[in-house]
Amino acid sequence: MDGKQIGKVFFVGAGPGAGDLITLRGARLLGRADVVLHDALTDPALRELAPKAHWVHVGKRGYRDSTVQVEINALMVKHASRGALVVRLKGGDPSVFGRLEEELQALHAAGIPTEVVPGVTAALAAAAATQRPLTRRGSGRSVSLTTAVTQAGTVQAGRRADTEVFYMAGQRLAELSRRLLAAGWPADTPVLVVSRALWPDQIASDHTVATLPAASVLHSARPAVVTVGVGAAALALDQVSAALPSTLVPEREP
Ligand code: SAH
Repeated sequence: MDGKQIGKVFFVGAGPGAGDLITLRGARLLGRADVVLHDALTDPALRELAPKAHWVHVGKRGYRDSTVQVEINALMVKHASRGALVVRLKGGDPSVFGRLEEELQALHAAGIPTEVVPGVTAALAAAAATQRPLTRRGSGRSVSLTTAVTQAGTVQAGRRADTEVFYMAGQRLAELSRRLLAAGWPADTPVLVVSRALWPDQIASDHTVATLPAASVLHSARPAVVTVGVGAAALALDQVSAALPSTLVPEREP
């Protein structure tokens, strides 16, 4: 950092859980970083990848903004203007419910070069963790990622895709259930709730649209995604043996 050259800000998706879910590109950038501005939900183990960087916690959780957005923008502009390689490390993927729009706008306006490195978003983590494919041949052709809570703080839900994944709904499951019923989802539609997906203390539970409120206590105060519809259903095993060549069907004990 000699202060003469302008730096750059890399938005890096840390993935949803354990640090090894970051991409190789993201990990290599951490190794080169001068400054890392990170969120609350990123794994502390990632620090080992950026030993020479100055780490700044700018986490926002829920509605309690501990550092306001303008301050984060100002910090990125300040460090990059002085020539630093800045990594803005975000939980999951930066492009999904990560305020990337505001942060890019601020940097573009200041003439600072930027790049975005994707990460594994929570919806995909929940699908992987529970082995519930989000798309299913023949029945699940579309997936939507929706925040259940609007800017005004109200819960909203529609019926736009075969599989809908709701973010930021963990503390409002009873309301979400009512909204889903009102939007026309049948009461017995499968619903999967996964909190802290791909962390060692992950919890996953099965419900229906009607019984979803019962999940509140189990997932209370934990980041959770709620998958509704085709992609929430457990795999049906009764069709498997019929589809396999007989030599591949494992023999059962009598
Ligand atoms: N950019 C992030 C989302 C940030 S918004 C991403 O792509 O995943 C924060 C919301 O993400 C939480 O309220 C929760 O709904 C979800 N979330 C983040 N990490 C999660 C995890 N490990 N398990 C389940 N949900 C998670």
